[in-house]
Amino acid sequence: MSGSTDTFLPYGSHYVDESDIEAVVDVLKNGPLTCGPKVDEFEAAFARKIGVSDAIVCANGTAALHLACLAAGLQEGDIAIVPAITFLATANAVRMTGAEVCFADVNPTTGLMSPDDLIDAFERSGKRAKAVLPVHMNGQSEHMQDIAAFASRQGMVVISDCCHALGAEYLNSGKPGDGQFEAFGTFSLHPVKSIAMGEGGVVTTNNSAKAHLLRQLRGHAMEKDPGQWSDTQAGTALDGKPNPWYYEMQKLAYNYRATDIQCALGLSQLNKLDGFVEKRRSLAAHYDRQLAHLNNRVRAVRRSNDCVSAWHLYPVLIDFPYCGGDRAGLMEALHASGVGTQVHYVPVSRQPYYVERYGHLNLPGAESYYSQVLSLPIFPAMEPADVDRVVRALAENLGG
Ligand SMILES: *Cc1c(COP(=O)(O)O)cnc(C)c1O
Repeated sequence: MSGSTDTFLPYGSHYVDESDIEAVVDVLKNGPLTCGPKVDEFEAAFARKIGVSDAIVCANGTAALHLACLAAGLQEGDIAIVPAITFLATANAVRMTGAEVCFADVNPTTGLMSPDDLIDAFERSGKRAKAVLPVHMNGQSEHMQDIAAFASRQGMVVISDCCHALGAEYLNSGKPGDGQFEAFGTFSLHPVKSIAMGEGGVVTTNNSAKAHLLRQLRGHAMEKDPGQWSDTQAGTALDGKPNPWYYEMQKLAYNYRATDIQCALGLSQLNKLDGFVEKRRSLAAHYDRQLAHLNNRVRAVRRSNDCVSAWHLYPVLIDFPYCGGDRAGLMEALHASGVGTQVHYVPVSRQPYYVERYGHLNLPGAESYYSQVLSLPIFPAMEPADVDRVVRALAENLGG
């Protein structure tokens, strides 16, 4: 992982080396390209890494969220709670089942939905919400025990959106998505996340019946087990054996599969996860130290006491009016000095689709977080000197 001080620093970037390339080429040369052993190998390795009994790999993180919402039983007429600060897909996955979204506010210093934010949203849902999707924003989580306890008292299924949290750990024990606080965890393996699979997603669960259902929903719900067929006559040959071509579909499902090509890359990347996380944590710590010299004009997002993140993003909070500038201007100036930044995220409740559906919501924590947040470059190939360069560019463009 060598330094890239002279080049443009994007806010995030994957890291692929020769061993990753060899793993993919091996599948291309020797096949099968899909529905083969790399899928099972990847699932077993991912489940081991998280410490959960089942990991179901699929096409992307959005598909993982959709599958988890379906497996949770969400459908038209239901309501699910989603924090307003997240990527579009968390809310959209709920809508794909026909259920409605009730947006929760977040803590303005972390972007995380607090137990009080959850209770407020639950009240606004008319106490009808059937599921809640806590988002492990920036790989952090806070008060998951209280969130899970409230959800359990109200009969809500917890689906953890862990797309930012691969490699994060709870300080007590375990990891986001391991099932201690959720029925389902969902992960994304998009190149900007902790590891890259091109596109890829994973659902985790400790419920083996739900794992079976998730695998059915991922693959057209094609039932090849004669014991499960309803039309046994159509499925049976003259000699009494199952017809070799026969399968049944008893529910509507999807093709959300990941290929063996993707899973070979995912497996190879999973072996590198610990090294990536170590590098990201050391870069984040270096940012923390260097930003302390900017006299509070740029503050790191508040650290949770419950976990340690894998820092797939390195977000800071900037009081733009106080700094005498606007965010777009700062982003452009940073870009001109070779520093890429991004805003994660515009509150999803503000998207025109959702405004049209639910009107303008008053979520002051989400608005405050959104008005200040900026993600600075962080990725495994960066070096401390790159961090210094980003901090210098910030200092120059914030007036000293
Ligand atoms: C990336 C992301 C997703 C969607 O994952 P894709 O693999 O891009 O479909 C969902 N939720 C969050 C919080 C994400 O960061």
